[in-house]
Amino acid sequence: MNKKKRNQQSLCVQAQVIPRPKLCPVCGRTKNLHPHHTKKEIVFGKNPSIVLICDDCRHKIQCSVRLMEGYILRNFAPVYQKIWEYYTQNRHLTGTEITGYIEQCFIEIDSIVCEYISIVDNPKNNDRGVEGICLRCGHFKELARHHPFKRAVFGENDVVYYICKECHTILERSVTHFEATVLRKFSRCYAQAWREFASEGFIDKDRIEWLVQREFLSIKAKRRYYNCKIKK
Ligand SMILES: [Zn+2]
Ligand SMILES: [Zn+2]
Repeated sequence: MNKKKRNQQSLCVQAQVIPRPKLCPVCGRTKNLHPHHTKKEIVFGKNPSIVLICDDCRHKIQCSVRLMEGYILRNFAPVYQKIWEYYTQNRHLTGTEITGYIEQCFIEIDSIVCEYISIVDNPKNNDRGVEGICLRCGHFKELARHHPFKRAVFGENDVVYYICKECHTILERSVTHFEATVLRKFSRCYAQAWREFASEGFIDKDRIEWLVQREFLSIKAKRRYYNCKIKK
């Protein structure tokens, strides 16, 4: 068997796993189709929820998902503050502590309320590749810009701190762990957002906010129910 035939055959085998549609299921275009994970791998790990959609639709759904994640994470704004607070005191929040603070947000926050922190004026510094003393480890190193209060969650702000690249990586790991833990709880929002996008070709901003709020309250109600059962 020549190489071309073998390649074709292996493509057929792959095609049985993920059938490759000839057109984008959202807009019907036939060109530039790319895989899109309806359940992001960074949040849900490896999973088979993949569809082939066109560039344009992929860009639109990605923007909607980013917006949705911003709305979800706003409910947990105090956890970003905690992570940063611990960090500046040279302490590290463990996975269990992060879970505890997430639980606390479910108990204390009743609906979509963006908890804006009081933003301290920090001189805007656009220098890149600066060297200096790391806020955390105190070593003189090449520093990275860190934005502890994400605009998608806290709104516009220019709070920037300089910490060394090693410390920055450790910090980002905590933040990513926390965000993924929260976002996984909202898996139904990802599924619903995709369903609505696939049928309408867009999702309205208010609709996304409403989906998130409904899910937040539903998760909260379920927890209350289970907690009552445990107490009894
Ligand atoms: Zn499309
Ligand atoms: Zn450092």
